[in-house]
Amino acid sequence: MADHAITLAEWRRAATGRLARDNAADNAEAEVRWLVEHVLGLTTTQLILAEPNTLAAGDHERLEAVLARRLSGVPLAQIIGRADFGPLELRVTPDVLIPRADTEVLVETVLAAFGAERDRDVIDLGTGSGAIALMLAEARPAWQITATDRSPAALAVARDNAAALGLGHVTFIESDWFASLGDQRFDVVVANPPYIDAEDAHLAALTHEPRQALVAADHGLADLAAIAAAAPRHLRPGGGLFVEHGHDQGEPVRALLVAAGFSSVATRPDHAGRDRVTGGLLNRGHE
Ligand code: GLN
Repeated sequence: MADHAITLAEWRRAATGRLARDNAADNAEAEVRWLVEHVLGLTTTQLILAEPNTLAAGDHERLEAVLARRLSGVPLAQIIGRADFGPLELRVTPDVLIPRADTEVLVETVLAAFGAERDRDVIDLGTGSGAIALMLAEARPAWQITATDRSPAALAVARDNAAALGLGHVTFIESDWFASLGDQRFDVVVANPPYIDAEDAHLAALTHEPRQALVAADHGLADLAAIAAAAPRHLRPGGGLFVEHGHDQGEPVRALLVAAGFSSVATRPDHAGRDRVTGGLLNRGHE
């Protein structure tokens, strides 16, 4: 092997420049640091201490290989196999949607509407990596939380995450929305279903994630409509439905919830101030 005179610091600088230029990554420096920590098996502190070292040829090759994958568009979370979501670190694979910071608003909305003073039965439909169910379980240890997905591969990831986080009391069920739940009723139904229109140009940047977690018929509203229509049969009186949706879907989603019999229907913005989460309550006495 030829002697590689390049230092880790030099490689990081060059890699950051390539990532910023070719992928327009706005946090290229942090992404490169995460790639380096992943490939070399270092913590951030160890990385700072290792910084002046000359790169071993094998490490250089491994770093170039992961950088090439990142430059080809593979999401960072899939390369390093994990993503942060609220207070949690979650394992992710190509079988699940990568948790988005915007979805934390969905969890925060549920937590604001239902306090810790009472025990609750909650269901997260289409849980993917388990992000929503597990963040709720972490914040409300006394709640009974069920999470569904129709993808067995996604459920395997979610179960792994629950075990790794010590949240083994969350129940996972293979189900297409409510299909396998019989007449079970809950206090809260929460979902981040697919809601992107099949023609949306934004999908071109999302080819590494499962299409069934992203795309829905009827301008992205088909699954939101199915969930809203079925939710009253699975909620106790006074219970709530909370869904994530596209920033331009606030109005149609509010209409879907109102048509399904929900009241106090309201939309909350995401971190960028755009419509993202709509919720409604089922009146007491609703059949
Ligand atoms: N918010 C995601 C995106 O636009 C989509 C998530 C979803 O369809 N549920 O990248």
